[in-house]
Amino acid sequence: MTEKEYYQYFIDKFGINAQVLMAIEEMSELSNVLTKYLRFGEDSLDQKYKENIIEELADVKNMIGQLSYYFGDNDVAKTQKEKLERTILRIKEKEHENSNPKNS
Ligand SMILES: [Mg+2]
Repeated sequence: MTEKEYYQYFIDKFGINAQVLMAIEEMSELSNVLTKYLRFGEDSLDQKYKENIIEELADVKNMIGQLSYYFGDNDVAKTQKEKLERTILRIKEKEHENSNPKNS
């Protein structure tokens, strides 16, 4: 099966509301492991924590993939690119302001 076929299958099987709920649940699980990462630091993390982070990232990516597919992959991809470009623009504007403080 392709990724899109998986996504359609799960949405058909469980319904979009259940998948939205699952996405929220998986994002919460990722938040939990990431707060542990920040609280304990990378050096003190044992392999189990790193495996947990990878597992939760994979879960969230799978759920985001489904929601993106359902709501419109092309629109999400377009907006994602626009936001990346806008962030770069803001960084460059800030750097320019900092290197030319009289002009700001
Ligand atoms: Mg999970």
